[in-house]
Amino acid sequence: MSETKEQQECPYCHGDGVVINGDYMQIEIDGQNRVIAAYGDRKAMLLINYCPMCGRKLVPND
Ligand SMILES: [Zn+2]
Repeated sequence: MSETKEQQECPYCHGDGVVINGDYMQIEIDGQNRVIAAYGDRKAMLLINYCPMCGRKLVPND
């Protein structure tokens, strides 16, 4: 599967992911582990199959 340059260099789904800091909560987009996590008073996690930023498929083709 060929990926665009944007997808190859996307920081959200490569490396350690990206953390977004808000006033009351923190959101982490971690494509490596296919997870979006939100931390506030409590924690919420969402499993993803595609990167929400570049659209790269994160699950293996099989
Ligand atoms: Zn991405």
